[in-house]
Amino acid sequence: MTSKDGYSWTKAQGLQAGVPSIGVIEPPSNVKSADTVYDVIVVGAGYCGLTAARDASLAGLKVLLLEARDRIGGRSWSSNIEGYPYEMGGTWVFWGQANVWREIARYGMQDELEISYDFSRGINKYLLSSPQGTQTFTHEEEDALMQSSLAKLVNVDGCLGKTVVPFPHSGVLTPEARKYDHMSVADRLAEIKNDLTPNERLCAESFVLLCSGGTLETTSFYEFLHWWALSGYSYEGCIDYLVKYKFRGGQSSFAINFFKEALASGNLTYAFNSPVATIQHGGNGVQITTRAGQTYKSTKMICAIPLNVLNDVAFDPPLAPGRKAAATTGHVNQCVKVHAEISDRDLRSFTGISYPHNGLIYGFGDGETPAGNTHVVAFGGQHNHFHPEENLEHTKAAFQGFAPMNIERLVFHNWSKDEFAKGAWFFPAPGLLSTHLKDMRARESNIVFACSDWALGWRSFIDGAIEEGTRAAITVRADFAGRAKL
Ligand code: FAD
Repeated sequence: MTSKDGYSWTKAQGLQAGVPSIGVIEPPSNVKSADTVYDVIVVGAGYCGLTAARDASLAGLKVLLLEARDRIGGRSWSSNIEGYPYEMGGTWVFWGQANVWREIARYGMQDELEISYDFSRGINKYLLSSPQGTQTFTHEEEDALMQSSLAKLVNVDGCLGKTVVPFPHSGVLTPEARKYDHMSVADRLAEIKNDLTPNERLCAESFVLLCSGGTLETTSFYEFLHWWALSGYSYEGCIDYLVKYKFRGGQSSFAINFFKEALASGNLTYAFNSPVATIQHGGNGVQITTRAGQTYKSTKMICAIPLNVLNDVAFDPPLAPGRKAAATTGHVNQCVKVHAEISDRDLRSFTGISYPHNGLIYGFGDGETPAGNTHVVAFGGQHNHFHPEENLEHTKAAFQGFAPMNIERLVFHNWSKDEFAKGAWFFPAPGLLSTHLKDMRARESNIVFACSDWALGWRSFIDGAIEEGTRAAITVRADFAGRAKL
């Protein structure tokens, strides 16, 4: 099945909107009656909504899952092009992420992971490209350079940030944490400007921008410290947790298991292609109306809609002021993630930074396609932001910013223009978490708000989405706890 989402380009076919994915659900709806009053309606079929819908339906609740798109997975989905899964959004997982690993074990997928890097052959180099030219390093030198630059960045306490974020899964921001949340990474870099070598500065800045998809000024220094803490306070940990292990069959091969298990419970009704327009809620339950005018009713609701698009839905009564303000501020991540299939086999083993002049900042060999070509993935963001489909020559030139390469195919999803995401993974500007983390997590009457964007642990990750979906289902089950069938 082909999703409406995503783009691909080849010389022969030109630019095409929509790519095939095993995450597309057919038939798009199994709603039988418009009059059913559901126990719970879950809006959003990303990992959070899928987890919530599955857990609630397995617990015996009558669940309706409503999703705007034609597919599951939200910001994590894979396209299957000529037998190869290009990851359009969320990709890498790690066994240190407890919620993700619980689910990987649940579906027996422990042996379905592979490593993105292959340093066994080819050029096997780290290419550090700046307006001054390209320097070449071994991967061992790359690790040493990255570790020293990030250690200087995070070392606010002589303990590599350990005293600032001692419990990375806690929802409490201590006064110390708040201080750093009100600082941007640009502020922190100004403090250590005399300690960094020029190369360390290039590495630190580009790695932070890879994480936030924003600019140095709009990236909360605390949230970067939080990622660092979650990754075991080391650069090696960052690589293991953030960019190393992915599903051989793509993310959609994981997500589909959640959906199938929920469906097998016999308690799941669903409707895709159903963007929600209005949500009325109060003492008597919830009434939801889609853009097409279809109305659904339930006792409870789990709202798994991302922060940056929450204000596009009309709530009656309106959203609580704190949540509304958080959604108005939004998060800053406008990551541009693009895949290229290239015929240069030696580049399978390159990693590279091209900064600050280039549109794509961070890239590396990510796989080998069935045709035997190299698959390169690269990331840009708000810094030198561009829309890959608008000027393909610019997009291809951004890849050449790492090294000369012969591009045969491009694949990507424009998350900035996506009306159901308006950005990539959550990354906050200074102050947002200190001011509004609690507001984003609070429930309102019969609605539980759940999303990776305000998870406590791996906030912004697939793990955080599953953490939140689990919490939401537990909360709603507790509401029904007195009922006989539970
Ligand atoms: P979403 O996946 O956004 O799900 C929300 C759902 O709500 C969507 O399906 C959306 O269509 C739907 N929706 C929105 N509005 C409406 C409406 N009005 N009516 C009905 N439905 C609506 N995480 C990792 O762990 N590892 C990674 O390597 C990684 N890389 C990433 C790379 C990119 C480019 C992106 C974009 C994300 C990445 N992430 C990664 C983050 C991860 O993908 C997300 O944190 C996670 O998928 C969010 O899940 P969610 O269910 O909370 O939200």
